[in-house]
Amino acid sequence: MKRIGVLTSGGDAPGMNACIRAIVKAAAAYGIEVMGIYEGYKGLMEGKMNVLTCNYVDDIIELSGTILKSARSKLFRTEEGLKLAKEQADKNGIEGLIVIGGDGSFRGACDISRYGLPVIGIPGTIDNDIAGTDYSIGADTAVNIVTETLSRIHDTARSLIMDSPRVFLVEVMGRACGYIAMTASIVGGADYCLVPEIPYDIDEMCSHLKKKFDNGKMYSVVVVAEGATNVNDLKKQVDAALNIDARTCVLGHLQRGGSPTAFDRMIASQMALKAVELLVEGKTNQMVGVVAGKAVSCDISVGINDKNKISAEMVRLNNILIG
Ligand code: ATP
Repeated sequence: MKRIGVLTSGGDAPGMNACIRAIVKAAAAYGIEVMGIYEGYKGLMEGKMNVLTCNYVDDIIELSGTILKSARSKLFRTEEGLKLAKEQADKNGIEGLIVIGGDGSFRGACDISRYGLPVIGIPGTIDNDIAGTDYSIGADTAVNIVTETLSRIHDTARSLIMDSPRVFLVEVMGRACGYIAMTASIVGGADYCLVPEIPYDIDEMCSHLKKKFDNGKMYSVVVVAEGATNVNDLKKQVDAALNIDARTCVLGHLQRGGSPTAFDRMIASQMALKAVELLVEGKTNQMVGVVAGKAVSCDISVGINDKNKISAEMVRLNNILIG
């Protein structure tokens, strides 16, 4: 194997650059050149790519986002698009492809593998919703950003004493996965957490908050996963139940930026090496992950078909800590 390609696809995530860097360095250790493909599958079909040298990627480890840019492409989901992509891969001497992205990107990888291009998926999404790995690249950075924000809200909330207690409703990302919300709730000292995976009762939540107010607490912070409910609807319900004017805070894309944490840089580098080695071993249609601190691999269908679930241990811990 002389040359492989790497692309980032779907939503960008902090740590993708650390991963690209490690792929280039790991491949170089095996005497393999890496083509950086720009703008995901769109760029692959259009032949937007160039060789990434170790020198070029040496100092991108702390950069957020992705130097290769990411994109979403409808054309790639057609046979015409897949053919174009394979033609470009052949034209540019790409003998294997590493795709950093989410489950949609993994589906695309499987599709192009049908045309004879070996593919390996690396989970890159802040949502941490991909099965087959304990963590996906970017999730830890997102959790740290939310944690920092919760600290800031705590700072102001505990300082200003008002006539009535205050409630802060903080909406975080994660789509159908409550990982960011629940982890941030635990480490950020929240008073309640709503996630899509666990049924909740707003009246019960308000009683819980009221009990805290009756015991002297003057404010509460509630972390709401975007997939659980709409934070503005929630505000209306909370306002009515507690007779207050709750404050909402939607973190949105703030959670996608910022220099990747040491942890994200570490797992991105571990998974990069594993992905390169799988291609060297002649493997295809695999995804890599980090399980119990070690780089592992499994069939890419795991990442496509299964979802990471919040562990029962995490739920129990959160329930105790919000008490
Ligand atoms: P994120 O979870 O961050 O959104 P993702 O990888 O799931 O990341 P998608 O937008 O679902 O993001 O997919 C990225 C790209 O992968 C799509 O634009 C498309 O080109 C390709 N893709 C997605 N789904 C499929 C599919 N079912 N078949 C083939 N290609 C797909």
